[in-house]
Amino acid sequence: MADLRGGIDLGGTKIQAAIVDGRGDVSGQARQPTPTSGGPEDVAAAMAAALRAAAQEAGVETGDLAGIGVGSPGDADEKTGVVSSARNLPGWEGSFPLAEVLGKELGTEVKVGNDVQVATEAEFHLGAGQEFQSLIGVFWGTGVGGGLVLDGRPWLGRGAAGEIGHVVVKRGGAKCPCGRKGCLEAYAGRSAMEAEARRQHEEGHKTDLFHLMEKHGKPRLTSGIWERALDHGDQMTEKLIERAIEALGTGIASAVNLIDPEAVIIGGGLGIRFGERLMDPLLAEMHKHLFVDERPPAVRVASLGDLGGAIGASLLLAR
Ligand SMILES: [Zn+2]
Repeated sequence: MADLRGGIDLGGTKIQAAIVDGRGDVSGQARQPTPTSGGPEDVAAAMAAALRAAAQEAGVETGDLAGIGVGSPGDADEKTGVVSSARNLPGWEGSFPLAEVLGKELGTEVKVGNDVQVATEAEFHLGAGQEFQSLIGVFWGTGVGGGLVLDGRPWLGRGAAGEIGHVVVKRGGAKCPCGRKGCLEAYAGRSAMEAEARRQHEEGHKTDLFHLMEKHGKPRLTSGIWERALDHGDQMTEKLIERAIEALGTGIASAVNLIDPEAVIIGGGLGIRFGERLMDPLLAEMHKHLFVDERPPAVRVASLGDLGGAIGASLLLAR
């Protein structure tokens, strides 16, 4: 019992909680929508509720867990447990002592880490990256996040390493959600792709994307909507995805030129949905920019799926 841990993946739209044993097996899980109003206290309350529900499914009291790890967006300080500037969460522009508040609420130790970094470590220990000692995780979703494992150990830099989404793929290029220009995320992030599709649509270019979005009752262009439009042969979709793949190939190759990892693991909502389907064009785009092109790294799609973030968060206790 003592080696059961909690893991929480705190996302912009949902909170995923899991109870995980020392081998990475999940014995309970629960999900809550992320509050869209209020502040960090409300988000913490929803996280506690999700973790309690997962613990109940696993038949364990939260106070009996060996601890709980949280993968968080924003600036998550592993040493202090404080999360700052989590701008995709309501009212979280400042700092909030998440580990302390959750720890009191759930009666056990809580550690926080970067959401993408912990998902990368989960793939390294338990998923698609198990056979490698060094890898780059690329999480292609709403934004484009990254994580690094070098010589078997997480590389956090001074706390902000792995931001592959903000590697510049075109100087003076498209505006990125971060406010700068020409970042990989400005071309491949789902938010940026949606903004570009909307702009072109308003200019009179034809697309089924927004029709499909309404038909399926979605508030935004989800990865499922992008896939449907691609299946329908929607031309704008084909072009925007091709543009995203070019940017991903360029950015990933640049990172590979610097780090020379054994593997690149592609995850995230769009990455998991399109990774296998678009692997050949992605490899072709990467190849154009690899300095040592006769020995490319292995490129694999993440294998832990939706639970990878929560499982990775639980590994924060083992560090
Ligand atoms: Zn950026």
